[in-house]
Amino acid sequence: MWKKIFILFSIIQLSVLPGEEVARKVQFPVMGTVAAFDFTGEAEDMPELFAAGKSCFEKVTAIANLHKVDSELSRLNATADQKPFICSPELYRLLQDARRAWIDSNGAFDISAKPLMDLWGFYRKHRRSLPQAEDIAGVLRKVGLEKVKFNDELRSVYFTVKGMQLDLGGIAKGYAVDRAAESVQKKLSRGIIDLGGNLRLFDHSCRSRRVGIRDPLDGGRLAGVITVGNGAVSTSGGYEKFVTYNNKRYCHIIDPASGLPAEKFLSVTAVTANAVDADWMSTAVFVRGSVLAQNLIKKYPGTEFYIYKESEKLPGWELIHVKQPYF
Ligand code: ADP
Ligand code: MG
Repeated sequence: MWKKIFILFSIIQLSVLPGEEVARKVQFPVMGTVAAFDFTGEAEDMPELFAAGKSCFEKVTAIANLHKVDSELSRLNATADQKPFICSPELYRLLQDARRAWIDSNGAFDISAKPLMDLWGFYRKHRRSLPQAEDIAGVLRKVGLEKVKFNDELRSVYFTVKGMQLDLGGIAKGYAVDRAAESVQKKLSRGIIDLGGNLRLFDHSCRSRRVGIRDPLDGGRLAGVITVGNGAVSTSGGYEKFVTYNNKRYCHIIDPASGLPAEKFLSVTAVTANAVDADWMSTAVFVRGSVLAQNLIKKYPGTEFYIYKESEKLPGWELIHVKQPYF
């Protein structure tokens, strides 16, 4: 699998004196993708910190994995249209982040888009036919977070329309990265947590790192290099997960307003404080574009977007960089 984001210039220290800091890396498969930790701290803490970070990912997998029928989200999807489903505190917290994402993106990020994901067949790779307009219109009746009733006191979720379903695929990885960062960062002087291109960087001395953004038209190249201190980076693109029909690619990010796959952009990279926000914001801006990006940078100071779209004039891409103006 091509990586969407590359970390440049990480340090590897080979010989260690007692009490001296070391840089250690580990990589492992999880949540249908690859995770990597790159930590700098005391050598003796490393095994415990790697295990703590990994266990945060496993916890979120047990909650949000739709490929497992017994995950908490699968159980919610199976019954929440019949009676309110009482969530664990962790699932409810994740759902509240997703609800905030829906509000702040004006509906571009909507975890209730799952019936559309099913209709378009994004859990397969190839299609024999495309969904018809009437199929899409029928499924859209089951989409829209306004049709989901949340009860904060009971931590319960109820679908007011039969057949509704939730999919946390556009936010759960970022959420898991934040939980892992919280559990390890006090004992480290610096580190990078990468879960399938959802990055969180932290450094107690506030040094920045260089992060490369993959060229959306040529996976072997970088489209740009950005500098990130303490913060998070996430990229959403149409180049990795898609279905093909008649040689045309349909990407796995859906516009919940039209029910059609988003196709205005090649990729969107969001840079912001938390990984959960970077994750949903890159997905939402991939759907809606720079007007939403402008609203988000006002609401979330310090946030920036790198929006790549196919150039209208030349073969290749062009970049729209949305950031707060310098005064
Ligand atoms: P990736 O999973 O490749 O990192 P994203 O973070 O952009 O990519 O998330 C895409 C996933 O989000 C889809 O696979 C699907 O599970 C879900 N999704 C698709 N469209 C939307 C949407 N409009 N709002 C919320 N989630 C979405
Ligand atoms: Mg995302």
